[in-house]
Amino acid sequence: MALVGCGGFIGSHLLKAILERTSWRVFGVDLDSYRIQEHLANDRFEFLCADLNERSVVERLAQFPVVVNLAAICTPSRYMAEAATVIRSNYDHPARLADACAKSGSWLIHFSTSEIYGKTAADSGLLDEDSSEITFGPVTASRWSYATAKLLTERYLMGLDGLRWTVVRPFNFVGPYMDFMPGVDGEGIPRVLANFSSALVRGDALKLVNGGAAKRSFTSVHDAVDFMFRLFETGAAAEGQAFNVGNPDNELTIAELASRMRVIFAKIKGVDESLVPQPIVVDGEEYYGKGYEDSLRRMPSVTKAEKILGFRATTPLDVVLEESLRWFVDHYQVVVNPMVAE
Ligand code: UDP
Repeated sequence: MALVGCGGFIGSHLLKAILERTSWRVFGVDLDSYRIQEHLANDRFEFLCADLNERSVVERLAQFPVVVNLAAICTPSRYMAEAATVIRSNYDHPARLADACAKSGSWLIHFSTSEIYGKTAADSGLLDEDSSEITFGPVTASRWSYATAKLLTERYLMGLDGLRWTVVRPFNFVGPYMDFMPGVDGEGIPRVLANFSSALVRGDALKLVNGGAAKRSFTSVHDAVDFMFRLFETGAAAEGQAFNVGNPDNELTIAELASRMRVIFAKIKGVDESLVPQPIVVDGEEYYGKGYEDSLRRMPSVTKAEKILGFRATTPLDVVLEESLRWFVDHYQVVVNPMVAE
């Protein structure tokens, strides 16, 4: 099989699981390989440092019977500052890959996003793959550059003659190796979990955008990997479908997330919670830039994945948060505080 974006957060977990649980050969493409160093010498894995901008790479990928595409620019602060680049990465590149797969007959499993549900209100109900109405902010609100490009890609795949496709819509996947630490191995503002983890490791206050009233339901990346195996096993019956992959049992506000993470961080470090700085409130446009808007609730319906694939995410929120935060602390504390290494 071919895995585009095999070096990213989700891709690296999926690659590891495939190499451990199956005897498949994997052709992986990414611009970055730091998360997958341990697999580079595996003779069932071939790595190519490239992106979908290269026609020869796209042609080669489409020779594989199954192509999973995880490659995307998905850093929220870039949606405002680099909209054109974000759109190229999230529409042009996957559309090119889809064209090649339609010709060759490969099954394309494309990672979209729960952001395609747009600017959801605080009282919005379950988001359903095939019937939810979608509203975006105005064209000037650049936040939606990512979501609209992803949505256009979905429509393109659905309309492309001869393409065998499945769309996956992740709902806030979290776990080890997610995103980056600003100023250490990336620039800009990563998604909320990495951002809160960075602040905790640095001893800074967690920043609650517009008060932290928005709600998200967080999903363990390990559940997401199990979903993918159910998809591979199900095969043809999963083609021509978009699936939400999320955990509706793990919903909370961002302010509640900050509280939980402060408690877990204090436990990991063995210190009293009162020593961890209190969160502060920041204005969304000041923090992210002009054109920032938010989805106030993003709650998946997961009945389709249950019915067709027999899949339901099971990892509880505190387990996900503790695993992610422990990984972040271990991985970055030496960088931030070299004294720890001595
Ligand atoms: N957020 C926050 N503080 C941060 C980063 C994000 O309050 O340091 C908020 C953000 O405004 C949104 C939610 O957390 O309401 C989730 O944002 P994220 O960037 O993780 O991605 P999204 O779920 O919006 O795609």
